[in-house]
Amino acid sequence: MPEIEERYPESLMNTFGPPKLALVRGEGAHVWDEHGKEYVDLLGGIAVNSLGHAHPALVAAVTQQLQTLGHVSNFFATEPQVTLAERLLGLAGREGKVFFTNSGTEANEAAFKATRKTGRTHLVSTLDSFHGRTMGALALTAKQAYREPFEPLPGEVTFVPYGDVEALAAAVTDETAAFVVEPLQGEAGVNVAPPGYLEAARRITADHGALLWVDEVQTGVGRTGRFFATDVEADLVTLAKGLGGGIPIGALLAFGEAATLLQPGNHGTTFGGNPVAAAAALAVLDTIEADDLLDHVDRLGKHLRDGLAHPHVAEVRGEGLLIGLSLDAEKAAAAVTAAQDAGFIINMCTPDRVRLAPPLVLTEADADAFLAAWPQILEEAYRS
Ligand SMILES: *Cc1c(COP(=O)(O)O)cnc(C)c1O
Repeated sequence: MPEIEERYPESLMNTFGPPKLALVRGEGAHVWDEHGKEYVDLLGGIAVNSLGHAHPALVAAVTQQLQTLGHVSNFFATEPQVTLAERLLGLAGREGKVFFTNSGTEANEAAFKATRKTGRTHLVSTLDSFHGRTMGALALTAKQAYREPFEPLPGEVTFVPYGDVEALAAAVTDETAAFVVEPLQGEAGVNVAPPGYLEAARRITADHGALLWVDEVQTGVGRTGRFFATDVEADLVTLAKGLGGGIPIGALLAFGEAATLLQPGNHGTTFGGNPVAAAAALAVLDTIEADDLLDHVDRLGKHLRDGLAHPHVAEVRGEGLLIGLSLDAEKAAAAVTAAQDAGFIINMCTPDRVRLAPPLVLTEADADAFLAAWPQILEEAYRS
């Protein structure tokens, strides 16, 4: 049998480019490739594997739920789904309602449809944003390369520079249905909102009767050292990536009047809120609490950010374990390759930007191993 990497392009559509590795096994923040080489996984399935790989609590929850009741469709209620909705609203500390999906882009589609029920169609989004790849979410995503082949996209969308309060105030009008924004722009290479930006967004949208929609697909579920990256009270909040710890699940949380925008028949999903996915998410929430992971993420994130300083590193950004850094040259791809050779998985966001989004359970020893290897990784990258 040829190697997995050789078989891949023969049967898989070429949407992602050639795979970097074929992985066969994982444990904690470690993964192994098909040749038995071990890596510290500092990408965590793109901010998804909150509990790392093969976490016993996640394995037990999924196994037990699948043995009990695996799937029933949304004609029926299940206990894990209801409990998960209650827990998420409890964490938000507000009255609201939840709609479950299977992914981030679907959570955003649900939110997009909710905004249409306001009777308004104008939306405001930010430059450098990423909200997903389905047509609605793509309409809100700024990146031209992703958008252009698929235009016309739905909606009337105005894009404003991220963090610019004046531009936002000028863009939001009495015709605006919603402003959608990430608390930190993950895909862009981790841009952190300037202090007061989301508070200003809350004020501006409220002044015009528009909804504030915070996309926490990447930043939510403890990633930043807080369960939600922002305390600002949005009308719509979307979650996905880290929520299921690797089992696909997303959620739209809607608060106040926004919670009743979607009415019977307005939206649906076959898989969304499936009991196995909900049980996985409950295991993630339980473990974050039981193991004090928010504190751990906060501390380890600071430690990592401090340790990444280097003459070739122009800037280190981020909160908790969502970390972005800019190199002083277009060496991100070379750094990813050099890191992989050294046994570390990291991610390139743009030609000069690198992102880390490791499991929330990353150990200090693994973080230190990476920091110790980092100068050598950069040296290697800049030599190529
Ligand atoms: C990843 C991401 C999405 C899309 O999620 P998928 O599960 O890939 O559809 C949407 N918004 C943000 C902020 C993301 O980081």
